[in-house]
Amino acid sequence: MIVAIDGPAGAGKSTVAKAVAKRLGYRYMDTGAMYRALAWKVMRHGADPGDEAALGSILRNTAVDLGADAGAPSVMLDGVDVSGAIRTAEVGQMASKVSGLGVVRKRMAELQRAMGRGGAVVAEGRDMGTVVFPEAEVKVYLDASPETRARRRFRELAAKEPGLTLEETLADVVRRDRRDKGRAVAPLRRADDAVFIDSTSLPVEAVVERVLQEVKKKSNENGRIVS
Ligand code: C5P
Repeated sequence: MIVAIDGPAGAGKSTVAKAVAKRLGYRYMDTGAMYRALAWKVMRHGADPGDEAALGSILRNTAVDLGADAGAPSVMLDGVDVSGAIRTAEVGQMASKVSGLGVVRKRMAELQRAMGRGGAVVAEGRDMGTVVFPEAEVKVYLDASPETRARRRFRELAAKEPGLTLEETLADVVRRDRRDKGRAVAPLRRADDAVFIDSTSLPVEAVVERVLQEVKKKSNENGRIVS
C-alpha cells in the first residue's frame, strides 16, 4: 500500500509520516528533503534557481537518494549525507524556488516513483497524492493555521538559527506556501480523494491514529489485514 501525505510547511507531515511508517513497518519517503538537497547544491554552485537550463545541467550530474529507515531518515546528495545541512529556512526557500521548474519536478518524480515501486511506503510532500502517486490507496491532506505551523517551524529552527524570530518564520512559511500553491507545475493542492485533517489543535498521536484508521479501512476493503 502507498500512503501519501501532502500539505503546507509545518503542518506536521514529517512527524506523522515517520510515526505511521514505523507503526506499519513501511518505508518513509521525505520528498521535501530531496528538493532541499538539490537546493543546497544549487546554492553552493551559486546558480540562478530560475535558470531551467542551468538547473537541468546540475540535475544531470546529481544523485539524490533517501535512506529507508523511518527511525533515522537521511538524504544523500552525490553520496554525501546532507540531512543536517538542508534544515535551514534559507534552503527551504531555495527548495521552493527550484521545485517550481518542470525539469526538476520531472526528475524528482521519476526517482520517487522508483523508490515507491514496491509499495509499503509512506510518502510525504506537496504532490504525492496528486501527481507522483495518484494511485495511492490512502491520501491525506494535512493542514494547520499559519500561526501554528510557524510556531512549529520556529521551534525546529531556533536552536540552529539564533537570530531568527517567530514573525520572520511566519512570513517565511506564508511566502513558501504561496509559491508552492501558485506554481504552474504540480501546485500544492488537496487531491479530490484525500482525507483532510486539520492538526491545529490535534496532538500528533491523534493525527497518527486517524491516518492508521484510514489504512485499516482501505486494507479491510481490499481484503488485507493490518495489525
Ligand atoms: O517539506 P519541506 O518543507 O522540506 O519541503 C521544502 C520545499 O520543497 C517545499 O516548500 C516545496 O517547495 C518543495 N517540495 C515540493 N514537492 C514535494 C516536496 C517538497 O515542491 N513533494
